[in-house]
Amino acid sequence: MSDKKIIIALDGYSSSGKSTMARRLASKIGYRYIDSGAMYRAVTLYALNNNLIASDGSIDTAKLSAALPSIKIDFKPMPDGSQRTLLNGCDVEDEIRQLRVSDNVSPIAAIKEVRSALTDMQRELGRNKAIVMDGRDIGTTVFPDAELKIFVNASAEMRARRRFLEMTAKGDAVSYEDVLANVVRRDHIDETRQESPLRRADDAIDLDNSAMTIDQQDSWLENIFRETISKL
Ligand code: C5P
Repeated sequence: MSDKKIIIALDGYSSSGKSTMARRLASKIGYRYIDSGAMYRAVTLYALNNNLIASDGSIDTAKLSAALPSIKIDFKPMPDGSQRTLLNGCDVEDEIRQLRVSDNVSPIAAIKEVRSALTDMQRELGRNKAIVMDGRDIGTTVFPDAELKIFVNASAEMRARRRFLEMTAKGDAVSYEDVLANVVRRDHIDETRQESPLRRADDAIDLDNSAMTIDQQDSWLENIFRETISKL
């Protein structure tokens, strides 16, 4: 088998389980895992904390764009293979998962300057390959030459249910209806925005994981990875 290092791009709809799959594969094969959605969430938290999003949802795009060079996002690896997102040195991992951020992230991710700054950071992180990155435009825009691209989907109800269980397990007081509305709204904004919309890359492999367990997903992905590597 080739020991060549590759880039693995996992794209798909909100809460489709891509992050779990990507993280588990990376840890199994010794690659670095990057959650690009966490980067958009961190920028959104910055905008919220600095009053750059008005109560009617309008965004001060000029101020946010000017602040981008001073927004530093890092990932701190944890012993269990997970990672914590740091915004200007502060651990914001729990805060960026809350509905307050989820409700505002897609309009922020539609801003051209935000996408351009984060795309540059993501490319830098993948410079030496050996990386698994999940998001919406990784296989289409960030790494169009990635050796392995997966496009993950599942029904909106299934995805909202998973996200709801995850959030209530953490103690967040959310309703299933609010989580479902958020998932549907984000998908719509992500698919219809002008800059790098959520789209399946032509050369991506599809995965509908609605009826799969996490273990089944893991072996499906690992098999495809081994197959891809063996052909290089
Ligand atoms: O993956 P996650 O659901 O945490 O991503 C949060 C949001 O960030 C998405 O709904 C989308 O608006 C945006 N995003 C993006 N491009 C990526 C990753 C995430 O636009 N590569």
